Amino acid sequence: MQRRVHELRDCGREREPQDPHHQRHARAEVPWLGCEHCLPQRLQRRDRSRLRQGLRLRHPLQDQRAAEVPQADVDHLQREPVRHHQDGLHRDRSADPVIPFLLLAVVLTAVLGLAVGSFTNVVVYRVPAGLSVVHPRSACPRCSTPIAARDNVPVLSWLLLRAKCRTCALPISARYPLVELAVGVFWVAVTTWMVMAQPPLAEPGPAAAFMLQLTALLYVATISIALALIDIDTKTLPDRIVWPSYAVVGVLLAAAGVLNGDLEAVARAAAGAGILVGAYFILLMVSGGMGLGDVKLAGVLGLVLGWFGWQQLIVGAGAAFLLGGVFSIVLIALGRVKRKQGIPFGPWMIAGAWIGIFAGVPIADTYLSLVGLR
Ligand SMILES: [Zn+2]
Repeated sequence: MQRRVHELRDCGREREPQDPHHQRHARAEVPWLGCEHCLPQRLQRRDRSRLRQGLRLRHPLQDQRAAEVPQADVDHLQREPVRHHQDGLHRDRSADPVIPFLLLAVVLTAVLGLAVGSFTNVVVYRVPAGLSVVHPRSACPRCSTPIAARDNVPVLSWLLLRAKCRTCALPISARYPLVELAVGVFWVAVTTWMVMAQPPLAEPGPAAAFMLQLTALLYVATISIALALIDIDTKTLPDRIVWPSYAVVGVLLAAAGVLNGDLEAVARAAAGAGILVGAYFILLMVSGGMGLGDVKLAGVLGLVLGWFGWQQLIVGAGAAFLLGGVFSIVLIALGRVKRKQGIPFGPWMIAGAWIGIFAGVPIADTYLSLVGLR
């Protein structure tokens, strides 16, 4: 009987009945679970796989098997993943590999995001004016002194220069560091969300697919800020940004879908782009409140929303009209704009899309349960 127990629950050690390890099994409080050597390891293995399933549960791309893990169980495991090892003998310090990875990713994306934010400023000012974004180097608009590298460090230089040109003391708008900061914060938010929703696995295929999706999302985050500012400034959404975005986002997501073996998501992305372009084109024809730029941008946003899921697509598109509509009504009521004047709709499309990406699934679930469909 003793021997049978040990064979059932052995932990890869000696199996001789006289072995001290075997005797510990017999003395253990719950012999059929194992001794203090093998029990913590098994619990940890189970916890890790359950934690992974729990995280997958939140991601729309993952399979439905994860739904078998009760949510309360998942919450408990996420809060206290190593609680079982109170004896301290077998505490595994690398119990949760997601956290160190996340810290590294956040620091890296914050630095890169600030640098890209600096370039976003250049794009926002030069692209609507039809100028090159790489040549000439940035210079002070009054004294034409080229901006030195030490005065071009995101946010920090603006603070150290006290918002003035080093040569002629021309005030520098706070908009520059704010845009840099906004892109940096957006990048960190997107990376954190991606790591939490879809932790990169150790296998090369899923890890590469994760990186491709993350790159696509960071690209969309950057053009989101650039296009929103340009639309507010000039009421245009330049083709020079929108057209290449179809290629960038399309290729990255298609490659991620192939690596993940998730061709359904690729097809959904294409359908999402088609549906949103169609819907916005009909609105343009019927109401005239839209611009052709909005129709073109709708396709890019449709690609991303469709990739993540139908719920994200519907919530993302709906939120744009809700936000834009409420904002217009407020402005008209305050007498700030005339009814026919129109507001740039691009920023609302973009804000709506990000609500769809981040919160499309919980919003759709809440709505469906409110109307009694779930
Ligand atoms: Zn100057």
